[in-house]
Amino acid sequence: MSNELIKEISWYVSQGFGDPFKIKPNLGAPLIINAALTGMVPSKHDNPHLPLSAEEIISDSVKCFNAGARIFHLHARDKDGEPTYETSLYEEVVPEIKRCCPGAVICITTSGRKFKAFEQRSAVLSLSGAAKPESATLTLGSMNFSKQASVNAPDMIKSLALKMKENGIKPELEVFEVGMINFAAFLERKGFISKPHYFNLFLGSLGTMPGRLKDLDYMIETLPEGSVWGATGIGKFQLPINIAAIFKGGHVRVGLEDYIYLDHEKKRLATNEALVKRLADFAGEIGRPVATPEQARSILGYDAASDLSEIEKVEAIAD
Ligand code: ZN
Repeated sequence: MSNELIKEISWYVSQGFGDPFKIKPNLGAPLIINAALTGMVPSKHDNPHLPLSAEEIISDSVKCFNAGARIFHLHARDKDGEPTYETSLYEEVVPEIKRCCPGAVICITTSGRKFKAFEQRSAVLSLSGAAKPESATLTLGSMNFSKQASVNAPDMIKSLALKMKENGIKPELEVFEVGMINFAAFLERKGFISKPHYFNLFLGSLGTMPGRLKDLDYMIETLPEGSVWGATGIGKFQLPINIAAIFKGGHVRVGLEDYIYLDHEKKRLATNEALVKRLADFAGEIGRPVATPEQARSILGYDAASDLSEIEKVEAIAD
């Protein structure tokens, strides 16, 4: 175990949040790392390594794929670096990531933090051909972030879920509170979403679920039987929550979207590659290696296609 990890976790333990290193390891399944490369909030000013242009996003994807990332969670920015719902960047980026990172799952945001209209939020769900993502985010309720509300009204969630279903795009179910897990069960009962589910549990964001181990436990025990889950720690909770999830047999999301530093003292700026590599190395060290793209696809319930032409063939048959 590196001294860096021990130091970072000792901060978390000292706050009384729990001790991830005392979790009884569940090392059964290989680990899936979801890389959240850009997000909506950080800027180049905050961290010059943040990928914004198509070239930068593709380059970071390749580096993260080689380091072990198997899902890429994407946001687009415009030429001024501002979030945009326009799909032109995805048209450039998605085919190229599929080509350079065979078998990786691409998941595009439908966030309503900045753009509220259904047409804006759902624009990415109409991407087609080689630019079509296999997955998109579905946030299961409304909440506050530290400076901003994120409103996801029931009808909006249902409409997004329905459009994903119609277009053959699998939702990544974003959960910031246990009540949102109830809403997923409701959506399933009503036929808006279907198993297997991939839940992404967010902890440590001001205004929603805190980042203690007992909060993670509570979320996990509330999930429907048989769910695949990953955990995301926001800000300085990133590393402890990721480590806890790795020990607990879950999966992880990591990246500059969630935290731009490597350390809780905010002294060392991170890169996406370094964040992915740190988790992949740690997982390998404790005997839970990262999933191959084929393993990740199988765990998440995607077709076993391993390259773009195969993916397109499967879609054609499904039509
Ligand atoms: Zn995002």
